[in-house]
Order: sequence, then structure tokens, then C-alpha cells
Amino acid sequence: MLFDNHGRKIDYVRLAVTDRCNLRCFYCMPEQGINYLPKKDLLTFEEIERLITLLASMGISKVRFTGGEPFVRKDFMDLVFRIGKIEGVREMHLTTNGVLTAPYVQDLKAAGIQSINLSVDTLDRERFKMITRRDEFDHVMKTMDSLLEHDFKVKINAVVMEDKNIEDILPLVEYTKSHPVSVRFIEEMPFNGEGSHYPKLTWTYKKILEHILTAYPNLRKLQDEPSSTSYNYTIEGHQGNIGVIAAFSRTFCGTCNRIRITAQGTLKTCLYDRGVLNIRDLLRSNPSDLPLRHALLDAFRQRPKNGFEAELTRAGAGVSESMSTIGG
Ligand code: SAM
Repeated sequence: MLFDNHGRKIDYVRLAVTDRCNLRCFYCMPEQGINYLPKKDLLTFEEIERLITLLASMGISKVRFTGGEPFVRKDFMDLVFRIGKIEGVREMHLTTNGVLTAPYVQDLKAAGIQSINLSVDTLDRERFKMITRRDEFDHVMKTMDSLLEHDFKVKINAVVMEDKNIEDILPLVEYTKSHPVSVRFIEEMPFNGEGSHYPKLTWTYKKILEHILTAYPNLRKLQDEPSSTSYNYTIEGHQGNIGVIAAFSRTFCGTCNRIRITAQGTLKTCLYDRGVLNIRDLLRSNPSDLPLRHALLDAFRQRPKNGFEAELTRAGAGVSESMSTIGG
């Protein structure tokens, strides 16, 4: 088992398979997009397989595929099947925007994906178009229906944005009445490729909860899983449930069990750090895994205590890169 310098178990890797995306969500990317990486800078499937095999031998048992939009990367499903065969990988999950996902739902099942996080910030077609700057709502909802038909565990990620989708909070809660999904409302972070949208975040997890309580006073707290990033609640008579994620307030760092690998193979031991190890270069310059194993262990031993401490390592540079580059 792997532990960091604060005694936290590390058993979960979030792997960005690309930095490219087919949406331009207001909270994630500027309208004109970001400078995408040239292909040679991305980890190849062979490199990813080698890396995950190493991480699994060290104690990482859970893998989440994310990006960018995973399905924008050519032959993405081949990678999922390959990772699913690695000894020690016991859980695989996916975060997707659902635009290109529907035709692959059966394959995702066959490959062993256990749950899917689908990004849906609104159930209103027009506002979806405004937030994502693309007219893809119907494709996303088709994916949602197909995932539920195939009995996938589905979590909806909804980023809460002042002046953009506040009116969508309650309809999304209501959606859980007739759909067995978990809707998670996420505090907006400044990871949008252009810097903070507000002088101060207004829609904190507390405010989101208070807002939901006005319409659903019978909200009941659920027992959260040990490394959960969300505070979860149930509503009587609803098939699904809801959660709030204090992504900006960072209340969950004390139990953080995750690391991130960006599309270009940079290790992040905290979402808010600047990237702490160039894994790609170590993979490319060493036929043996030993130097990489030592470098990874070193990085895990120097993990910041929380996202605030990690942010300080940016030396005042602030948080502004896109989540698409980081791997959401
Ligand atoms: N393309 C996939 C998708 O849309 O789900 C995966 C990548 S996306 C970057 C993953 C998640 O990051 C999204 O569900 C969104 O909730 C979250 N995200 C992106 N930018 C964010 C921001 N600035 N603040 C909070 N969450 C953000």
C-alpha cells in the first residue's frame, strides 16, 4: 500500500488521456480554446500501459479516465480494454461530457468500467448551448439514457456558476426523483484557462446547500465514503441522490487518496500544485522502471498537506490553467 507524508493512503489515479475537448465550457476553457499539445507530447498508449502497470504494482487500484474529452482521442476504447487487463487494477471509472459516448456504452460495460461521471450543468437546451458554446445537448442526453438503460452507476457533474445556471440547481435536484443518478454540484474553480471569473466565490458549497434546502427541507445526510469529495444527501421518494463538492473551499484534502497524470505525463499530487514530476521524460529515457518508481515515491513523500499549501508553491502565479489540460 502507498501512503503519503501525511499518512494518507494513495490508491486512485485520474488519468487525462488528452487535453483536447469538443466543448468550450465557460468554467473550463476560453471560447477560442487553449493551445493544445502536439501529439508527440502526449503519453502514448504503450507509455500509459507501462505507467499504470507500475502504479498498480505500487498500490494504485483505481483508475479514472478523463481529459479533455476522452472520446476525442483516437481509439480511446482500445486503451480502456488494455488498462482493464492490468493486474492490480480493480476499478475503472470514466468522466465524459457524453457528446460522443453513446455508441460506446456497451463497450464500456464489456471493458469493465464501473461508473460514469457525466458533465451536465443544466437540463435546459438553450442554457446548455450558452454554457458549453456548442449545441450538443441531445447527444449528451442520449448518452445519459443509454447509460441508465445499461445499468451504469451515473453521477452528474454540475458546476455551479453565478449568473449562468443558478436556475438549474433545483431542476437538477428534481431530476433525481425519476432518475437513479447522483447529481453533484461543484463549486466553480478558476481552472478555466483565463483566470478567476470573480473577485470572490459566492456560490460556495454552503450556499448551494442552503439554496436546495429552501425547496427540499427534508434533505437527509448520507454517510459519505471515506475518501469522498462530496457531501451527500438523499431526499425521500427520490430514486437518486445529490451531493455538493467543495472544490474551491477544499474541505476534503485531509482524506485525499488521489493523484493525477496530465495528458503530457506530468504528475500532480494535488489538483492545486503546478505539476511535480515529468513522468513522460523518465519513461522515455529509462528502459527500466526503477528510476521512475523512486521518483514517484519521492513525490508522494513531499505531498502538500492541502490545496492551499499546494497553491502556495505557485509562487503567486495563481490558478488559471484549464481543467482540460490538468485532467478534470
Ligand atoms: N470532458 C470530460 C467532461 O466534460 O466530463 C472530462 C474532463 S472535464 C475537465 C471533467 C470535469 O471537470 C467536469 O465535469 C467539470 O465538472 C470539471 N471542471 C472543469 N473545469 C472546472 C472548474 N473551473 N471548476 C470546477 N469544475 C470544473
